Amino acid sequence: MALDYNSLLLAVGFSAACLSLTLFGIWLTARSEKFLLTWAVSVLLVVGDVFAYKAYIDKPGPMLGVATLALLLLGFSTMLGAAHQFTTGRSPLPRIALGAGISLAVALPPMALGYDGLGFMLENSFAALLLFATALEYWRGRSESPVPIIGVAALYSITAISFLLCAMVLASDGKLVLGHAPRNWAEDLSLVIVIACMTGIGALSLALNQGRLAQHHRRNALTDPLTGLLNRRALFDLHGNAPVGAFTAVVVFDLDGFKAINDEFGHATGDEVLKVFAEELTANLLPSDAAARMGGEEFALVLKRTLPEKAEFAAERIRASFAARRIETETRPLSCTVSAGYAFGSKDGMSFDKVLSAADKALYAAKRDGRNRVLASTFRRTG
Ligand code: GH3
Ligand code: MG
Ligand code: MG
Repeated sequence: MALDYNSLLLAVGFSAACLSLTLFGIWLTARSEKFLLTWAVSVLLVVGDVFAYKAYIDKPGPMLGVATLALLLLGFSTMLGAAHQFTTGRSPLPRIALGAGISLAVALPPMALGYDGLGFMLENSFAALLLFATALEYWRGRSESPVPIIGVAALYSITAISFLLCAMVLASDGKLVLGHAPRNWAEDLSLVIVIACMTGIGALSLALNQGRLAQHHRRNALTDPLTGLLNRRALFDLHGNAPVGAFTAVVVFDLDGFKAINDEFGHATGDEVLKVFAEELTANLLPSDAAARMGGEEFALVLKRTLPEKAEFAAERIRASFAARRIETETRPLSCTVSAGYAFGSKDGMSFDKVLSAADKALYAAKRDGRNRVLASTFRRTG
């Protein structure tokens, strides 16, 4: 049994309405994902277009013609805005205003004046342009998750081509006035493509959003919230499993007399001091280095491709610049110092745990020697 055009059109309308509701529902549970709301609105506008177009098929006239054209172009402009918001996090409004402004200014007047042939040709052309622009937005943001994003861009492009074909068939007919909704092979094909692509776009985009949320949670689980540095777990994920070579240094830091600062100035000031130290720790860090807060007032640096003098110099620079910092408090400015110990891996590779504990021993030696100093591990010399 062949399905007729009207039934297919209604199927598009109802499935788009379900997609819009789903998007709205997901947005309600994750309000920070604002693009979902923009997207839900864009799909809702397309739903409005489908039902206005259905009414136009039954009873053609300039009012319904204008309604269907305006809803479709506004809907696709909003979809373009949602894509921009998804890939860049920026406001969708400039894209929506630009897309809707230009397309409506050009395509609405002929439709309103009864030149429906020209109106539908322009509507389909701008719909294609807006969908291509949407595909381009995704294409530009493909580095985040290449396979699904390129998939979404491809589906938007295929949909765009189907609208372009509709415009080309109308243009080749060359009729300025039709007096009824266009009926040709391109219209039928476009409807089938819209049904297929809308499903794919909906599924892929929701999967993309889920992936992004999972990534966000993963990042949170590996980040120290106070300083923004890696946490202990993240440092072990990065370096814990590989043997540490002879040109990699692990430096551990522990703030001196930190408990006394908390006792005198309060916990909030203590937190401030930790943030100041994190700033000093990450200043001048190379991309291959890693800085982590191991817990409390203890920090670690992993320096790759380095030598003992360079590691010593880096730790010493951090120690000296932190000691020189004056931190304003409600009562009086305070300063704090830090002790550090460092150790290197070996030619044959040493476990990260072992290097860390050698650096820790050096740190405790620095504490015993009077604090505010950097000491090298004697691990290799003592066995
Ligand atoms: P030392 O010079 O021997 O290292 O002495 P210390 O006082 O720095 O070391 P101690 O281990 O006695 O005290 C560490 C303090 O760090 C105790 C704890 O309350 C505080 N601390 C741990 N985590 C935090 C935090 O997130 N914020 C603040 N403000 N304090 C913290
Ligand atoms: Mg400590
Ligand atoms: Mg301490």
